[in-house]
Amino acid sequence: MAVLHTTLGPLAEQDCGLVLPHEHLVVDFRTPDEQPADALDVEEVVATMAPALADAGAAGVTVLVECTPPGLGRRADVLAAVSRAAGVPVVFATGVYREPWVPGWVYDASDTDLEEFMTRELTGGVDGTGVPAGFIKVSAGDDGLRPVEERVLRAAARAAVRTGALVGSHTADGRVVLQQIAVAAAEGLPPGRFLSIHTQLTADAGLRQAVVDAGAWIEYDHVGQGDDAAALRLVLDSLEAGHEDRLLVSHDAGWYDPALPGGGPRRPFTTLTGTFLPALREAGVPQQTVDVLTRRNPFRAFAR
Ligand SMILES: [Zn+2]
Repeated sequence: MAVLHTTLGPLAEQDCGLVLPHEHLVVDFRTPDEQPADALDVEEVVATMAPALADAGAAGVTVLVECTPPGLGRRADVLAAVSRAAGVPVVFATGVYREPWVPGWVYDASDTDLEEFMTRELTGGVDGTGVPAGFIKVSAGDDGLRPVEERVLRAAARAAVRTGALVGSHTADGRVVLQQIAVAAAEGLPPGRFLSIHTQLTADAGLRQAVVDAGAWIEYDHVGQGDDAAALRLVLDSLEAGHEDRLLVSHDAGWYDPALPGGGPRRPFTTLTGTFLPALREAGVPQQTVDVLTRRNPFRAFAR
């Protein structure tokens, strides 16, 4: 049976309600060689982020997917501590981000080493938590896959085939997504196990359609970022275009940034439940469709 692998244990579909498929609790944008080792104030992170996560739980969020990959400050032990303090399950990522956040060891690793690293994190416990990673996060620049990004993607696809995991890819304008889907497919990954993250940045509706036609998931993860009317229009357009079974919606909000005093400014995880979904219903979208977008789709995308 497919489950979500969370910090509070595996969850079956009947145990999950609304899932936020793209958020962050901790992100460190310093490059890996600039991040001080073991300098994270875990107590301060928990004190800062657990209330925000608990607010999401109180608003009806049953699982939050934390999309920070290794190399951007992912610490599974810290995410688990925040999750436990808030009482809200969190799914976290393995994988490798794009340059210049690719950790040094990745350049020296063999293709098999890369595949084994991700497979190990998806099947065993990470950072002493006993909890496996829930999915694979990769990324690419927009002008084509760089050599290291392609190697990471191929390894991610093979690890995903072995474990059933989803491969989620961060790109900006989406021009590279079809190439990524093809590269992953050549390693055996079904397009339905690939998620194009930040699809709102793909301005070309034809390209968004092509990604859906290829069978991949798309994600509008900019709710609460300033122009929710535009986000609403995008979701309505996508529903009209028949993307109901391929679309995820989230805030890409949070987070605690260890490079900034007190973790820096934050955005809440509650805009979707508070105003966006009511607006969607007001625009005539039936509750059944809202449930598909916010419950069924994220569960099916991330469960394995
Ligand atoms: Zn993000």
